[in-house]
Amino acid sequence: MNLLYKSTRGGETVTASQAILQGLSHDGGLFVPTEIPRLSVPVEELAQMSYQELAYTVMSRFLTDFTEEELRDCIAKAYDSKFDTQEIAPLAKAEDVYYLELFHGATIAFKDMALSILPHLMTTAARKNQVKNEIVILTATSGDTGKAALAGFADVPGTRILVFYPKNGVSPIQEKQMVTQKGNNTFVVGIHGNFDDAQSGVKKLFGDQELAGKMADRGFQFSSANSINIGRLVPQIVYYVYAYARLFANEEVARGETVNVTVPTGNFGNILAAYYAKQMGLPIGKLICASNDNRVLYDFFQSGRYDRNREFILTSSPSMDILISSNLERLIYRIAGEDDGANRKLMQDLTEKGVYEITLAMRERLEDFYGNYATQEEAASMIRRLYESTGYVIDPHTAVAAVVYEKYQGETKDETKTIIASTASPFKFTRSVMEAIQGSCDETEDFALVDTLSQLSQVPVPQAIEEIRSAPVLHNTVVEAPDMKAAVKRFLGI
Ligand SMILES: *Cc1c(COP(=O)(O)O)cnc(C)c1O
Repeated sequence: MNLLYKSTRGGETVTASQAILQGLSHDGGLFVPTEIPRLSVPVEELAQMSYQELAYTVMSRFLTDFTEEELRDCIAKAYDSKFDTQEIAPLAKAEDVYYLELFHGATIAFKDMALSILPHLMTTAARKNQVKNEIVILTATSGDTGKAALAGFADVPGTRILVFYPKNGVSPIQEKQMVTQKGNNTFVVGIHGNFDDAQSGVKKLFGDQELAGKMADRGFQFSSANSINIGRLVPQIVYYVYAYARLFANEEVARGETVNVTVPTGNFGNILAAYYAKQMGLPIGKLICASNDNRVLYDFFQSGRYDRNREFILTSSPSMDILISSNLERLIYRIAGEDDGANRKLMQDLTEKGVYEITLAMRERLEDFYGNYATQEEAASMIRRLYESTGYVIDPHTAVAAVVYEKYQGETKDETKTIIASTASPFKFTRSVMEAIQGSCDETEDFALVDTLSQLSQVPVPQAIEEIRSAPVLHNTVVEAPDMKAAVKRFLGI
């Protein structure tokens, strides 16, 4: 069967490789599979598979115009010794919850799970579609995507990568990771503004006809590494299936037993992947959507009204500081009964008024989801409590999920076993973590804190942190948001 991808705004239908190349549809919509394929592999078999084998099993059902050889090659290049464990995404059990550790890749955050394979999917897709242009990856980041994308694309032939990040909206270690990025094809730019400013700026650049024309003349074309690209979404489905298979293999769940999944959410990509895994037939019960103080999604699940007109709050979980969750459009489209007209209208409301409201019928189709949020204080207490009771240290994003899971359980008394997506290493947010555990933190030097955290958690300092300790700053451009276009032109020399 050849699976195609259509735009949530109705404009076009393309193959998987074309969807990966394009990122966003020309009509501004997001590509979604015309149907969700069934997994249809007994869990006993899944439980025997390595991460790589399982990745092939899941991804081959979605990326049907890739040959087996192409896809296996992409998987082998992505999930290799860049990860510090052969398991790729190990599970840790603490207080009867399974933490799915998605932070064992090159940049110690969950973005590596998808961004280590995207460059290979993209260059393969370019070859398949006879694209001769150099591919220019343009990305807005709230911290983790930027570094993971840079690490994935650095020195990949036929590509260049340009990352915009909010100058004062990422952690010091996140910033250091980005501005020390090597590679002749990389460019990192800070902007004065928040993540949404960066993301809106990037969206505008993608739609800029004058720029597209100039680039085409010089043999360049844009693509996106943001989580709207289905080449990121599909690899994220894999680890939910893998987690379930591991639980089964370890006799933690019985065949067919339902598990809930809790996901610390920002752009809604990770939790959407879990939703797709459920649609494939994986026995997932509730999808628990955890937000921080930027609780747009919680309010949406409560009221059916998505309202971005509110103050943007900088929190200790910066990768979730988002007011427009781009991937939610894919869910909206689905609960609208795949009615692209209805979806278009809602997205237009969002652009024009910053708010939209879904119908009652659509709300009824949200019953798989539960939403709640955690304040910074609640997340910090969770980090501390878990450390004190088990010795296990989680990062502030994962802590938001752990708090929300507890609220869910308190409200519903649902005893179903739960997987919490653990999206970043605590070493990436050392200061917040140490403040949470110690109550306060006087140390001014972030790398000294790294050593303290290592002693206290008895986890060695990850390679990704060791590497940037003494690395020189290679990128120091900072621009105003309206000057992003000029920065792109300068980078490309056009
Ligand atoms: C990106 C990110 C998230 C949010 O994931 P989405 O797919 O955008 O919802 C959560 N935690 C961390 C650490 C992240 O990097």
